[in-house]
Amino acid sequence: MSFDYDLFVIGAGSGGVRASRISSSLGAKVAIAEEYRVGGTCVIRGCVPKKMFVYASHFAEDFEDAKNYGWDVTHGPHDWKRLIKNKDAEIDRLNGIYHTILSNNNVELFEARAEIIDKNTLKVGDKTVTAKYILIATGGTPMMPDVPGIEHAISSNEAFHLDEMPKRVIVVGGGYIAVEFAGIFNGLGADVVQLYRGEQILRGFDHHVQEMVAQEIVKKGVDLRTRANPASIEKTESGLKVTLEDGSVLETDAIMYATGRKANTEGLGLENAGVEMKPNGAVKVDEYSRTNVDNIYAVGDVTDRIALTPVAIHEGMAFAETVFANTPRAFDHSIVPSAVFSQPPVGSVGLTEAEAREQYGDVDIYKAEFRPLKQTITLGSERAMCKIIVDQKSDRVLGVHVVGADAGEIIQGVGIAVKMGATKAQFDATVGVHPTLAEELVTMREKYTGD
Ligand code: NDP
Repeated sequence: MSFDYDLFVIGAGSGGVRASRISSSLGAKVAIAEEYRVGGTCVIRGCVPKKMFVYASHFAEDFEDAKNYGWDVTHGPHDWKRLIKNKDAEIDRLNGIYHTILSNNNVELFEARAEIIDKNTLKVGDKTVTAKYILIATGGTPMMPDVPGIEHAISSNEAFHLDEMPKRVIVVGGGYIAVEFAGIFNGLGADVVQLYRGEQILRGFDHHVQEMVAQEIVKKGVDLRTRANPASIEKTESGLKVTLEDGSVLETDAIMYATGRKANTEGLGLENAGVEMKPNGAVKVDEYSRTNVDNIYAVGDVTDRIALTPVAIHEGMAFAETVFANTPRAFDHSIVPSAVFSQPPVGSVGLTEAEAREQYGDVDIYKAEFRPLKQTITLGSERAMCKIIVDQKSDRVLGVHVVGADAGEIIQGVGIAVKMGATKAQFDATVGVHPTLAEELVTMREKYTGD
């Protein structure tokens, strides 16, 4: 049976674009459908504009730090509209680059919504097309809980396009996005209250990372309230009235929910092809990113494995090689480094102390907490931390966690060593780069025996 395409990809985000271009380079006839903007969450309304916002917000502290370095910096109020305009221009440029990548790689783009009709047929806009393979790469979308007045709240999607920078902001959640945006709004001058329903933010991170980030963001001015959650939101003449579950009331100009994301599978027609889903609506796949239907695959956030752009890209490449290069490759989801662009940022790779103790039993901990050199002559009090978790039996480094300036950059390099299975002795044999924050990772000799 012949098909219009060898591969039809639904969703032109990081995973979909990479899979389509590699598949095409391997000789497949490929088309891709995108209903919003080519580039996906990361480029259009995620990692990229978020990091620009982090840079923008950090200047407030840099201006202060400059004083004791001899600079008298005077500055006016922050111009939010200018930031948005420049950010939008860069996103437009990147969006254009993604279009070029697709056309240069002979991937046909449908700027329309696609829906699966059966395992080889799709409705794309008002056209019907057939494909030998279908790849679902539709990503995720913010999940807003069912709270009375939730229609007055925004998610990160809207935060990137606010007309005005709110003077007072409530951020709900304690994960990556909440912590990052609380820092952004705080740095840009808003009064920020962060509400987290649990005991400690950044659940799933090493407990020393959690504690340190919580302490540092409070020092910088975020009013972090744990065991706190909105019960209702009402619009008032002066802004929004947010009543918490304990009955207390907060006034704010904006409330942003960062309470997790859900897979974009609604209305995709997965049931028409019999594609199995997880209870949370994500597409269920095996280690080759294949669904229960033999010619339908899925990569990226829509599969709810690890919701990170570089992971989606790896899954997309592994898919292309598996299907079109006849070299089955399962992407290894272990030891994935990641960063939280909180202020200060976090870089983590491998296991947390709790996970290591559970999986390996006896582990050694090395931890250094200190005031970074830059802060010694500024008025800042930000602290930094490096932590290494080592398997006692094999001496293998199981996890590395860094809190401090450029932690994301640091953990990228360390991630290579950890992925290669480096031992603590090999870390110790590496000469430090002085004076840096990261040199602590190769100079710690004393075991940490505290909690
Ligand atoms: P996360 O899953 O990281 O965090 C969600 C937070 O919201 C948690 O603190 C959670 O609490 C809380 N929460 C969930 N449901 C509710 C509710 N009904 N009411 C109140 N609070 C609730 O999601 P994010 O939205 O922050 O990010 C999604 C994913 O995107 C991340 O997991 C990450 O993979 C990716 N991402 C990565 C970034 C990076 O690499 N720097 C940046 C941004 C996103 P609890 O802990 O109790 O469950």
